[in-house]
Amino acid sequence: MKVQGIDDTRNPEIIGDIASGVDTTSRTANEQSGGYTPHSWIMTPVGGAGNRVEMTLGTSASMNMTLSADKGFPNPSLLTQSPKIVNWFGEGIKGSEHVIKASIEGSDEIVLPIWAKNMQARNLRVTVHPITLIKPDGTKDEPDFIPTKTELEDYLNRVFREQINTTCSVNLKNVREVAWDASQGTNDLTQVPNTDYPLAFLEPSFPMPNDGILDLNQSGTYHEPKLITETDNTGNPGSNENTGHIQVYLVGGSTAIRTLLISGNPNNPNDDNVYFRSSGFAKGIAFTGHTNPRRCWIADSALQDPEAGMHTIAHEIGHFIVGSGHPDEPAIQDQGPAPLQGTGLSHRLMVSGRSESRKSRLGLQLVKAEWDAAERNLDIILNN
Ligand SMILES: [Zn+2]
Repeated sequence: MKVQGIDDTRNPEIIGDIASGVDTTSRTANEQSGGYTPHSWIMTPVGGAGNRVEMTLGTSASMNMTLSADKGFPNPSLLTQSPKIVNWFGEGIKGSEHVIKASIEGSDEIVLPIWAKNMQARNLRVTVHPITLIKPDGTKDEPDFIPTKTELEDYLNRVFREQINTTCSVNLKNVREVAWDASQGTNDLTQVPNTDYPLAFLEPSFPMPNDGILDLNQSGTYHEPKLITETDNTGNPGSNENTGHIQVYLVGGSTAIRTLLISGNPNNPNDDNVYFRSSGFAKGIAFTGHTNPRRCWIADSALQDPEAGMHTIAHEIGHFIVGSGHPDEPAIQDQGPAPLQGTGLSHRLMVSGRSESRKSRLGLQLVKAEWDAAERNLDIILNN
């Protein structure tokens, strides 16, 4: 028995594509690795269209087989020797998991090494804010690529509706012009909780105005993100983020994003170890683990290629849905819910942007452990 996903968001549709609501990857991982499961999995949508998959009996099969499941059903249910397209539907409680069974003519029911996970239809509202940089000389740098509402929705639905039954609605805001590249260097440290403590170390390339780098901190209190989020064209504070579960900023004029951290004990003014540093540079970043507003930031350098740009947006939204971490990170770091050591990672949505394998293919796959994480996280995101 073989099951293959069908990506029917493509024309022509792709059979065997591994971002299609079927996970045959996780069972091939090392058994000790996070995300391993002994079964193949089919995502069974509750309500709406079924999940189309191709099912094939073994080549030596000579008898027909009838499929069934406890908390879902297939259509059609009869498999014959030739490969067949089967629509799977889930029934009942969201998140419930059920085994797929088969009975061969004249024999008892047998349990197949294929399980299904019911996922309810969800709608995630994504607000996209394109930002044009106004430079000191008055010239402007708009984002290299701004997707249309339709093309971004199509892309996000290819990823999230196809695999976890979550439809994304995009609210594309008008382009807004902001003189955001205004870090004050060390003076900006008045933004940290205690302005008196000594700075033992400064990042060699610490923030400067007009350096083309978007400087962010986790809490969003830093100077540059505040300029972007807290004023609109009419100067109204806060009114840019009044809709949507996730805010996506496409930041024109930014070559990279630098995340600023304060280390040491900020409550001890004499702590020589308190310092200000960057955690590295990125083309996109999502700050997870916080309640609204949930923001992700995309540097202009990620938008030079439209496909790669939309992939970066999907990946950053994926951090809110799946969680932090990347499966290809070293074990000492956060590897997310499914490192799946022993499997190829290039087809995975959550592979790090630094990964060599990412560069060769923009993978979209979410695996079973990521479906589970999505179930938990979406319940939180959609309820506040
Ligand atoms: Zn990431």
